[in-house]
Amino acid sequence: MPDFVFTPPPPVSVPVADGRLFPVRRIFCVGRNYEAHAREMGGDPAREPPFFFTKPADALVLPGQNTPYPGETASLHHEIELMVAIGTGGAQIHPSAALSHVFGYAVGIDLTRRDMQAEAKALRRPWDLSKGFDASAPIGLIAPASAIGHPASGRIALGVNGKIRQEGDLADQIWPVPDIIAILSRFVALAPGDLIMTGTPEGVNAVVKGDLMEGEISGVGTLRTRVV
Ligand code: MN
Repeated sequence: MPDFVFTPPPPVSVPVADGRLFPVRRIFCVGRNYEAHAREMGGDPAREPPFFFTKPADALVLPGQNTPYPGETASLHHEIELMVAIGTGGAQIHPSAALSHVFGYAVGIDLTRRDMQAEAKALRRPWDLSKGFDASAPIGLIAPASAIGHPASGRIALGVNGKIRQEGDLADQIWPVPDIIAILSRFVALAPGDLIMTGTPEGVNAVVKGDLMEGEISGVGTLRTRVV
């Protein structure tokens, strides 16, 4: 045993539908990957190259956990997203080989301090603390691709307190999963345990304490967490 200054924490791990645990390394996120959401955020829906930001692994809110409302915001927005779980690492991955690097998929929510993000955009500051704060990434069970395949279409939706807020189709992604993996792997060497959040359809909006968020992606799974 090396002489650590303190005991290293165990890896953040997400339960897999088959009962195993998926140890998480990093979380990468794609900005603006559905045309209608790009428009609602004031962007040009033209097919510009995707851009990425990150969240720490310990920002995950695991299945069955509540989501504590963070400080320093009055506008906590939900973004329902397909999450890709990388099982095999690689750099400069070709799109035609990209899906062989995927272990599985999950439903996720990219929680955003929208007021802080708007200020950061206006002042040309980084997004880190508007996106990568504690409990900013609720996730559902990971479904192995060996069981569900590689969903490229299907309903993606999020409801709050039983009312649908976001509804779209994976087929409307500007950059589909193989392209996202290929492009991201030019910037970083992907590693087993990496998660990728693949962008959100339109309808992002604020939640408050007490709200129940319920997400669903057809063929992938569900997610349920209460803001407390
Ligand atoms: Mn997002």
